Amino acid sequence: MLTLSKVHNYKRIPDTLEVELVDENHYIRLSDGYKSLFAQNGEVYSGEDSPPLKYSEIPNWFWNLARGCSVDGRKRVGLVLPEEKGQAQLRKEGVEEEKYECPEPECLASVPMSKKGIHIARHTKEKKRLAKKEIVNK
Ligand SMILES: [Zn+2]
Repeated sequence: MLTLSKVHNYKRIPDTLEVELVDENHYIRLSDGYKSLFAQNGEVYSGEDSPPLKYSEIPNWFWNLARGCSVDGRKRVGLVLPEEKGQAQLRKEGVEEEKYECPEPECLASVPMSKKGIHIARHTKEKKRLAKKEIVNK
């Protein structure tokens, strides 16, 4: 639940006059000029009375603005950018990973972006192997 009030919670230490900061309901508010979204406790909310948004429901403009926030500020509210999330985590949350469409005519595979490097390297290796074979056959 998003809490915009009591952004700082203090507790009086018994038998002293000291107060201790027990928790901070830090939040980040980002707006595209029409709509505001709030990040708090690792969740993104559209308002105080709404449940947290699903990862796939968070709009791109929010992430674009979030990328401009300081790392410390994002850490304090537990805001993790999509590119910082593990792919397994994204899949669990129903977010489709971007695909790399292999242009090799013999292949034309659709591979997850995270495997693009390995995939291209395999083609490169295969081409080298074939080139070598050709030389040997001459
Ligand atoms: Zn390929």
